[in-house]
Amino acid sequence: MRYSGLRVLTEGLRGNTGWKPAWRDPDPRPEYDIVIIGGGGHGLATAFYLAQEHKLRNVAVLEKGYLGGGNIGRNTTIVRANYLLDGNSQFYSHSLKLWEKLETTLNYNVMHSQRGIINLFHSDGQRDAYARRGNAMINQGDDAILLDRDGVRRMIPYLDFDQTRFPIYGGLYHPRGGTARHDAVAWGYARGADRRGVDLIQNCEVTGIDIEGGRVTGVQTSRGAIRAKKVGIVVAGRSSQVAAMAGMRLPIESHILQAFVTEGLKPVIDNVITYGMGHFYISQSDKGGLVFGGDLDFYASYAARGNLPMAEHVVEAGMTLMPMIGKARMLRSWGGIMDMSPDGSPIIDRTHIDGLYVNCGWCYGGFKAVPGSGHCFAHLLATDKPHPAAERYRLDRFTTGRGLMDEESTGSQHNLH
Ligand SMILES: Cc1cc2nc3c(=O)[nH]c(=O)nc-3n(C[C@H](O)[C@H](O)[C@H](O)COP(=O)(O)OP(=O)(O)OC[C@H]3O[C@@H](n4cnc5c(N)ncnc54)[C@H](O)[C@@H]3O)c2cc1C
Repeated sequence: MRYSGLRVLTEGLRGNTGWKPAWRDPDPRPEYDIVIIGGGGHGLATAFYLAQEHKLRNVAVLEKGYLGGGNIGRNTTIVRANYLLDGNSQFYSHSLKLWEKLETTLNYNVMHSQRGIINLFHSDGQRDAYARRGNAMINQGDDAILLDRDGVRRMIPYLDFDQTRFPIYGGLYHPRGGTARHDAVAWGYARGADRRGVDLIQNCEVTGIDIEGGRVTGVQTSRGAIRAKKVGIVVAGRSSQVAAMAGMRLPIESHILQAFVTEGLKPVIDNVITYGMGHFYISQSDKGGLVFGGDLDFYASYAARGNLPMAEHVVEAGMTLMPMIGKARMLRSWGGIMDMSPDGSPIIDRTHIDGLYVNCGWCYGGFKAVPGSGHCFAHLLATDKPHPAAERYRLDRFTTGRGLMDEESTGSQHNLH
């Protein structure tokens, strides 16, 4: 069923009785060409591009819960291509271009809104770093504008510019950045993959990976064994656990990241704003809630909920930057499990086991990566060659030291990527 304005009108006139479920609910078949483990954003996008671009349709996505119940439905929805480092810069630029035509590609409203992102800076040194980043973005073919203090004030006058500790000096403006409705992205890719013949199998937990003679032959699941010629692991925060089923130890730690949303308010924040002196970022959802977040909780855990010290830290940063939010009532907070890699950049690669592929290490920035990651992982699965936009994302960089994205490998630091 194709969605259109005419369709909405027709259904409205006949009491909305003609809509069909957006995807089927099939039972697993005994064998597939390709099995994707994980029905989050990246897994669903991979399945979609396998079917759409490579015409590979004997594909299943196995999801232990329900589609979109993981981080894809838990993030703060920021989409951008403002990375600094070679490798990341190309990849996120590729992903943003896919975002810009995503709704047409999927025939689905993912509410992608290029409302612009402003990264604030608060010192001369930070301004220089942002100027360098902006130049890298422009060299990559993306957009960046360095704003001085008055430039920022014209766009977001309600900030506390003169806070004594961290006065605002200016900001790096990325007009093509913005937000999208996170779970609609999962639903759009799910519907698109299903329409092209991919089986999306929910409540199907992978419990083992079958390997014979150094080659993957299938998976064990809570709904029985499934044979497969190729298997892709795309399980975000659970990457280490699932890779361990194949005897692998990934360079990934799982950490909690929290998000917060206030009651719905009239439109007040037009863009996405990030605070340069505290890890704080905020935007306003289409429903009116102020959506914001900060840093990791900084302890490894598989609990998808956070702790109060980080909640306090994030709210303090918000109050420092824009005291007006103190009047808003917090409605909800939640956490997600982040797959943190040592250099803060992802892995899209084959493994030493024939037919077994891995896609992980998205840290706290994998939502914007969903189209690019799915596109590049599908390319790798279909052709056995890395996509040019993702060829730096090799797994062996952590054992050889060659090609580490952040040379010091000091852990994921957003200012370094
Ligand atoms: C609070 C928060 C804020 C964030 N903000 C942003 C942001 O603003 N911008 C941005 O770009 N990124 C952001 N991120 C990061 C982004 O959400 C993630 O990097 C990205 O969603 C991870 O990929 P995914 O969507 O495939 O993960 P998930 O949706 O978590 O998908 C993985 C799936 O694998 C399934 N799975 C796990 N184990 C198994 C198994 N054994 N068998 C079968 N299925 C299994 C899980 O149930 C899950 O559904 C944020 C994350 C959080 C938590």
